[in-house]
Amino acid sequence: LPIHAAVLDGCATGEHADRPALVDGLTGRSVSYRELEAGSRRVAAGLAEAGVARGDVVALFSPNSITYPLAFYATTRTGATVTPVSALATAGELADQLRDSGARWIITVAAFLPVARQAVAEHPVAGIFVCDEAEGHRSLADLAASSAPEPAPPIDPAADLAVLPYSSGTTGLPKGVMLTHRSVSTNLAQTDALFGPAPGERVLAVLPFFHIYGLAALLNRPLRARATVVVLPRFDLEQFLTAIQRHRIEAVYVAPPIVLALARHPLVDRFDLSSVRYVLSAAAPLDAELAAACARRLGLPHLLQGYGMTELSPVTHVVPPGDPNPPAGTVGRLVPGTELRIRSLTAPHHDLGPGEDGELLFRGPQVMRGYFGRESETSATLDPDGWLHTGDVGHVDADGYLFVVDRVKELIKYKGYQVAPAELEAVLLTHPSIADAAVIGVHDAHGAEHPKAYVVPAFGCELAEQEVIEYVARRVAPYKKVREVEFLDAVPKSASGKVLRRELRARAAQRGGIPAGGA
Ligand code: ATP
Ligand code: MG
Repeated sequence: LPIHAAVLDGCATGEHADRPALVDGLTGRSVSYRELEAGSRRVAAGLAEAGVARGDVVALFSPNSITYPLAFYATTRTGATVTPVSALATAGELADQLRDSGARWIITVAAFLPVARQAVAEHPVAGIFVCDEAEGHRSLADLAASSAPEPAPPIDPAADLAVLPYSSGTTGLPKGVMLTHRSVSTNLAQTDALFGPAPGERVLAVLPFFHIYGLAALLNRPLRARATVVVLPRFDLEQFLTAIQRHRIEAVYVAPPIVLALARHPLVDRFDLSSVRYVLSAAAPLDAELAAACARRLGLPHLLQGYGMTELSPVTHVVPPGDPNPPAGTVGRLVPGTELRIRSLTAPHHDLGPGEDGELLFRGPQVMRGYFGRESETSATLDPDGWLHTGDVGHVDADGYLFVVDRVKELIKYKGYQVAPAELEAVLLTHPSIADAAVIGVHDAHGAEHPKAYVVPAFGCELAEQEVIEYVARRVAPYKKVREVEFLDAVPKSASGKVLRRELRARAAQRGGIPAGGA
């Protein structure tokens, strides 16, 4: 099915039609299912009349808002492809994505027009529309007022691209990931039976819609389930807690930095969060102890996790809300219709069994078609027989629960041993005087690699390097010891909540006088 059909078909009739599909978490304004469905049809007609055609790429450059999904599904209805752009993008970054994706159109908001205009000076587009109101640009409301008939382009779900999201750029430059209507809507179907939300359930959307996790877990999935999505424009802890209390939020989807705040921040105790039925974390490794501390504070039996990547539309594993007792630290069990292989990191082509760590490979209908315009990167990631190499390390237990250790490329090679920085970060976070931490491998004068920790002391806490080194040494095997510590004010993280270890590597290289990326 086309993605808009998989999500919206049938929502304008029946018992949910007049229920709120989306609610603005700050103003309380809402859009009903009927309005969303009819609106996306009318805006699609307006877009088609303005020239947006099947196969065009449309850049959606907007913060989270209740009109975002209107722009999204209207675009896919025309047969065009949405390339979501980070709301934090600079003009240069937007221009790069416009050029790389070959975007012909932009849908944005008035506040972002200066950035958009600067970007189109570098990469001209055929037109810029706005979700709200701006002089000289057609708004979604103008487009919806068009009297043109709704476009009925013959979308081929197996071949046409619904979305061209960019990977987070954690390990290198973001890559455009080609996802067909079929891969995205099949991935929704694969998770239908596994997890909510249920009709009418209130879901908080604080993660960005432009990232595949937000797009899948906070738009496509809850709207398909006829839940109510309460939308916040960005993460601000107080605003987030206020929204949970005010809107009696039941389902909360987050990334590890928000789990950290929920587990530790004193502000949390001032709010009534008793409506929350589950919290699900994904996008980056989450320490089991931190997850348990967060669950305890919210009075939940455990935290849920999911695992995925842009290239997988995105979900392969999830702990469903109904799972009575998932093992601590698991990211969940495999969704139906998907194959998993765990490849040895040392013996090529050797598959591993339960309990053994190796690279995760997946095959299934949710696997991307490839990276847009990047043939060599595509062939390095996607085998001709359909297996996607994730670059992530992990293992399954005897019951099929997956545990993700870290990325293959991030593993630190210490004297022939492999050390996962995520494991050391988890240990560091258990120290009461450590607010946040990140670990990378650094090279000494002889080219040998060892773990170095970047530590953010908790507010008002004094910490010494030696104390940190000894704290970790008492808790891990000797070869995993942190051998160097630097104190920071904040750990660099991406908009999707990932530790940007490459920024720390650049910092380390600069300090050591070695050019970043060199030697
Ligand atoms: P890029 O590919 O551009 O370097 P990225 O890999 O961070 O960026 P995404 O597709 O947003 O881009 O993220 C997918 C990655 O996120 C996975 O490959 C994995 O490393 C990590 N990830 C996702 N969920 C989890 C999880 N539950 N636990 C640990 N890691 C996770
Ligand atoms: Mg990646």
